[in-house]
Amino acid sequence: MYEMKCSCAQGYHKAALEQIVLESGALAKVPDILKDYHQIFVLSDETTYQVAGAAVIEELQAAGRYFHHYVLKKDPLPTPENLGEIFVHLYPPLANTDLCAFSPLPDFILGVGSGVVNDLSRLTAFRLNRPYGICATAPSMDGYASGGSPFLFDGTKATIKGNTPRYIIGDLDILTQAPYDMLQAGIGDMLGKYTAILDWELARDYKDDYYCETIAKDVLRAADQCLKNAAQLKSRSPEIVKNVMEGFMVSGLGMAYTGCSRPASGAEHMFSHIWELHLLAEGKKPNLHGIEVMEATLMVMHMYRRLYRETKDAHLKELIGGYLESFDASMQAARALEMPMPVLDREMILEGIYKGLKLRDRYTIMHYLNERRLLESYAEDAADWMIGGMKQPA
Ligand SMILES: [Zn+2]
Ligand SMILES: [Zn+2]
Repeated sequence: MYEMKCSCAQGYHKAALEQIVLESGALAKVPDILKDYHQIFVLSDETTYQVAGAAVIEELQAAGRYFHHYVLKKDPLPTPENLGEIFVHLYPPLANTDLCAFSPLPDFILGVGSGVVNDLSRLTAFRLNRPYGICATAPSMDGYASGGSPFLFDGTKATIKGNTPRYIIGDLDILTQAPYDMLQAGIGDMLGKYTAILDWELARDYKDDYYCETIAKDVLRAADQCLKNAAQLKSRSPEIVKNVMEGFMVSGLGMAYTGCSRPASGAEHMFSHIWELHLLAEGKKPNLHGIEVMEATLMVMHMYRRLYRETKDAHLKELIGGYLESFDASMQAARALEMPMPVLDREMILEGIYKGLKLRDRYTIMHYLNERRLLESYAEDAADWMIGGMKQPA
C-alpha cells in the first residue's frame, strides 16, 4: 500500500498499489514479486506474447505458479468482444464442455503489454474480484497505474471502473526495445503533464477546484526529468525510458491518491480523446494515445502563450509565465525527436476543441476562454498554426 500524509484538503492519500519494479532483468523476478499468488493467469496479445509473454509464462511454469494464459489478436481494442474472449478462455474451454459448470479461477491476473492489454486485465480482474498486475512492454502511455479503463461500447468510448494494479513491473531491457513511435508516444504523454497541471492550477484559481500542490509539483518534477533527458530517446537510453516510466508512476499514483485524473490530464487529453473517437467512428485505426496527446499539448501551449501575451490579468500572467520555459523546451524536444503530428484536418482539430469542451465537467483553458467568448478565435488560431507547421513565432 502506498500512502502519505498531505497538506492538501484531502489530508491523506493512499493507493492500493503494492510494488513498482522498474529495472533491467525485472522479468526474471516476476515469480518472486508475485510470491503470494499460485494460480496466475497471463494475458497478452500476439505482439506482447512474443516480446515478453512467453518468457513470463516460462518463468511462472518453472516456479509452479502458472494457471493459464490467453493471447489476444494483434492490436486489440478494448471491446466487449475481447473481454468476453478472455472470460471464455480463463480456463481451457475444452476441458469442460459445459461453460457454465464450475471451473477453477485464477488467483491473480497478470497482463503483459501496454495500453489495451492493461485495460482488459484491469477489467477482467475487477469482474472476477481478483488482484491484477501489469508487466509493461512499452513506455508508451500513462494508464498503467490508473483505476479506470477506456472501453468501447454502444458506439462510444467511456472510462469504466476497474481495479488499480497491485504490481507494475517494467523490465528496462524490454522497454528500451519498444518501437520508436511508442517511445515517442510515451514522452508525448509526459510532456502533456505541463498543460495538465497548468489547467489544474487554472481551475484552482478561477473555479475554486480542489488542488494538491505536493502531487502537482511531483508530476512537474517528473516531466522536467523527461524533458532534460529527452534527446536520449533516439539512442533508446535506459535512463530516459526509466524517466518516462517513473513519470507515469508519479502521475498514475497521483490519480490513485486524489481519486481524479487531474494529475495526468487536462485539455490536451480532452482534444485527443475526441480525435480518437472520430477515427474510430470512421473505422480507422486510432493513433497512439501519447502521439495525439503531444500534438494536442503543443496546441494548448500555443493557446496559453497567446493568452499570456493578451491577458490584462496580472495573476494569470504570472501563473502562465511560470510555465513558458517548459513550453519552449517541449517544443524543441518535439522537433528534435521528430514527433509526428497526425491530425492535420482543420475540421477534425476544431472538433477536438469544441467537443472536448463538453466532454466532462472539468475546467481547463478551453472553459476559461469560452467564458470570455474567446474560444473560437483561439481555437482557429491554434488549428491554423498546427496545420501551417507550427511556424509563426509563438
Ligand atoms: Zn495532497
Ligand atoms: Zn495520457
